[in-house]
Amino acid sequence: MITNEQELRSEYLKKVIEETSAKNCYEKEFIQALKEVLSSLEPVVIKNEELYKSISLLERLVEPERIVSFRVPWMDDNGKIQVNRGYRVQFNGSIGPYKGGLRFHPSVNQSIMKFLAFEQIFKNALTGRPIGGGKGGSDFDPKGKSDMEIMRFCQSFMTELQRHIGQDVDVPAGDIGVGGREIGYLFGQYRKIRNAYEAGVLTGKGIEYGGSLARKEATGYGLMYFMREMLTTNNISLDGKTAIISGSGNVAIYACEKAQKMGLKVIAMSDSSGCVLDENGIDIELVKDIKEVKRGRIKEYLEKVPNAIYLENKGNVPTIYTLKADIILPCATQNDINIDAAKILVENGAIAVGEGANMPCTNDAVAYFLEHKVLVAPGKAANAGGVATSALEMTQNSMRDAWTFEEVDKKLENIMVNIFRQCKEADSEYNLGNNYVAGANIAAFKKISAAMIAQGII
Ligand code: NDP
Repeated sequence: MITNEQELRSEYLKKVIEETSAKNCYEKEFIQALKEVLSSLEPVVIKNEELYKSISLLERLVEPERIVSFRVPWMDDNGKIQVNRGYRVQFNGSIGPYKGGLRFHPSVNQSIMKFLAFEQIFKNALTGRPIGGGKGGSDFDPKGKSDMEIMRFCQSFMTELQRHIGQDVDVPAGDIGVGGREIGYLFGQYRKIRNAYEAGVLTGKGIEYGGSLARKEATGYGLMYFMREMLTTNNISLDGKTAIISGSGNVAIYACEKAQKMGLKVIAMSDSSGCVLDENGIDIELVKDIKEVKRGRIKEYLEKVPNAIYLENKGNVPTIYTLKADIILPCATQNDINIDAAKILVENGAIAVGEGANMPCTNDAVAYFLEHKVLVAPGKAANAGGVATSALEMTQNSMRDAWTFEEVDKKLENIMVNIFRQCKEADSEYNLGNNYVAGANIAAFKKISAAMIAQGII
């Protein structure tokens, strides 16, 4: 269960949470992530409290190594100059070069960047690859922009970002609003300015210029490999179960594709406007066409499948979470499942939640699921397949090699099985009662803290 900091026994933990929350009081998403992670580390912190206190380990863990914020001016198609704000948060580089995606979405601010970068430190540690935690992006809204506008924005964004990244320094990738097209424009500008072909500086690249097969599919497929491990360990078969998947972007689409291959019946998907319910099972090729090719809205599904139902969002619970299903896969954005949504889902008999997105459930929603014996696959473990495969892309770039889809997919599967094993082992070691949320945090923290301690006070 996620503990309130008031209920914590460790005075040291309480103090760090209180002071960090006060110092960053306007950063609500960061504080949410911080409380979720730190409170779950209590069993480990209690064991080592004197050491951690003496070297201010937690105080250093919660302070980013560096935050860069910068102006991004660009010209729209009408010749008007627009100005956005860009960010890169380099949170913790103790395990390897900073690594984490870029998000282009109007909601982006420093709090969201910091929460994502903080989560990324733990996620990357779980992958077993040598990568530290970072994240970046901009409050730029790609919706409705022409290709040329997207290109001009990406070029301006990279003109500044290139000073702060490099294949041994910091390696960005995609996230919400940043897919293959944007990575291509960003890479082109980096290459032009630096006059060097450093393929390993960005991941999620096109196959033609240093990308990895299976990277596009990796987060969604990885989520399902993790879910399969979690469910079968708890004697639950996927076959014949129903699922709902929020979002219809990169993670959601490939989670759906793999879920269907594993025998799950996915009955609904969504976007920020609403969801489609197709009792016959979602036609994923149609969703790919709407979202990946036409960059349209999920509602357009009904043009080809008139028997499906569209439920527009209203109120504080996205309509997709009012539907009845066994497996819930939130793959859209943070805080998508609040306590009200969690209560409806439990009432409707949900047995497991797999977080494809980062922090899609509020802390009280996760606590409610765990109290009601709903299994929760935490995002920082369950969606780590994307960054793990990005690390495989970096390996291929360094080796100047390209592996087959099957080779990459097999490595991804092994990594996800191993990540689940780490969550399970920490859960067993600390008697957490199938709390893989805390298990993931503890397993990752052990690695990060060991690296930080070894490297001295920096
Ligand atoms: P995409 O941009 O491809 O898709 C995002 C999807 O989520 C869209 O369907 C979008 O709908 C929906 N969405 C975005 N914002 C909101 C919102 N405020 N409310 C409701 N729906 C929203 O992003 P990804 O699929 O890449 O990312 C989805 C999640 O997965 C994010 O949390 C991301 O951080 C996480 N993630 C992604 C990884 C990756 O490899 N891509 C790796 C690990 C985690 P609409 O079109 O209406 O905006």
